[in-house]
Amino acid sequence: MIISTRALEAHIGATVALRGWLLSKQVRGKLAFLGLRDGEGVAQLVCEARSLPEDIFASLGSLGLETPLEVKGRVVLPPGKTRPELAVSSLRASPCDPDYPIGRKEHGPDFLMEKRHLWLRAPRQAAILRIRSSLEFACEDFLHQEGFYRFDSPLITPTACEGTSQLFELDYFGKKAYLSQSGQLYAEAGIAALERVYTMGPCFRAEKSVTRRHLTEFWGVEPEMAHVDAEANMAFQERFIRAVLSKVAVEREQDLVELGRDPGSLEFGPGAFPVLLYDEVLALLAKEGREKPWGEDLSVEDEEVLTRLFATPIFVYKYPVACRAFYIEVDSARPELALASDCLMPDGFGEIISGGQRARDLGFLEARIAAQGLGRESLEWYLDLRRWGSVIHSGFGMGIERMLRWICGLHHIREAIPFARNPQRYSP
Ligand code: ATP
Ligand code: MN
Repeated sequence: MIISTRALEAHIGATVALRGWLLSKQVRGKLAFLGLRDGEGVAQLVCEARSLPEDIFASLGSLGLETPLEVKGRVVLPPGKTRPELAVSSLRASPCDPDYPIGRKEHGPDFLMEKRHLWLRAPRQAAILRIRSSLEFACEDFLHQEGFYRFDSPLITPTACEGTSQLFELDYFGKKAYLSQSGQLYAEAGIAALERVYTMGPCFRAEKSVTRRHLTEFWGVEPEMAHVDAEANMAFQERFIRAVLSKVAVEREQDLVELGRDPGSLEFGPGAFPVLLYDEVLALLAKEGREKPWGEDLSVEDEEVLTRLFATPIFVYKYPVACRAFYIEVDSARPELALASDCLMPDGFGEIISGGQRARDLGFLEARIAAQGLGRESLEWYLDLRRWGSVIHSGFGMGIERMLRWICGLHHIREAIPFARNPQRYSP
């Protein structure tokens, strides 16, 4: 019976088969230890000269890393060890070039990114990608249970919804089009049909510089809800984050541990995530020695200092209107404030979600579009949403790679997606 490396524990004493790739190799006289990896993890294979045909044992010394292997043997738990091993009684290797380019020695990030198609196989990278898959599924699962419909927005669009500076321009049969930087405007069209929708797909941003938190192609999950105001929107985000993290913690416990991450740190205590007004944040930052003029957006460093003061995610609410996109609703009591919130992860991490209540009034939106010098023509359809059936509504967007980076405690976002794109790289 072929089982996966993760199932070894349940088969101690049994004879089973494993199928995978050679990860590591140590031959010592009449004994060889092979590391075998498959899609679920890694297993240690113990090969004794007396248990294998002579030619097979002799061939072990020349096996190259990444050789595909099929092995059979008995699952044993050696005294004093916590992980079962396979005492191999038969082994079949498929052909493989020698000299796998990624060795045991330390490689620099540029080399590894150049060889990303192979680097993916490293146990740590594979663990991250399994966690990513669980994270994406957990987002969809929660939203589905909450009555949302998946609503796939277009990726080719005529709208430059937050200015053109971050857009990838496209020649669309002689006309200008852009790669979508967010599905939100389309999701707003979706709610008048389906009330609760989410988009989940690639977002493209021509970020100008390489940072540890930005990609030029990332995946966004963007829920949008009719009849929900800015405050209910934050409460919903809190439930979303808690549910998603706790599902990932359970499903990927072993992978998290292998990354050195305590699965328990994905759960937060019972108190609600604090909601801090922008004005309060300025005061807090000033106390930390960071005076800021009113009206400026928080910088990466501001978010770092601020989130070090908290052990749970926090919301920063009511940003100055000037810091936010044209479609955000304003506070009727203080029109210089936007009903927008960011959710920041603790311990210096910073922004993971931006959200807010959307402007409902046609005249207000027209004025905002004009004031920001945005092309009104391509937004005419969006204005229609205010002409017919406009209701209070809110939504938010979370970057999958941002969240994964936090979950896994990754230094750099490039490890949070199979093939990262940044201003300097679009291959392999
Ligand atoms: P930042 O201020 O960090 O550059 P933003 O405020 O420009 O991000 P939003 O438009 O609010 O980004 O996008 C919603 C979410 O999408 C962000 O909170 C973040 O999780 C994610 N995100 C935005 N830009 C990127 C990017 N370039 N790479 C990866 N994730 C991103
Ligand atoms: Mn944002």
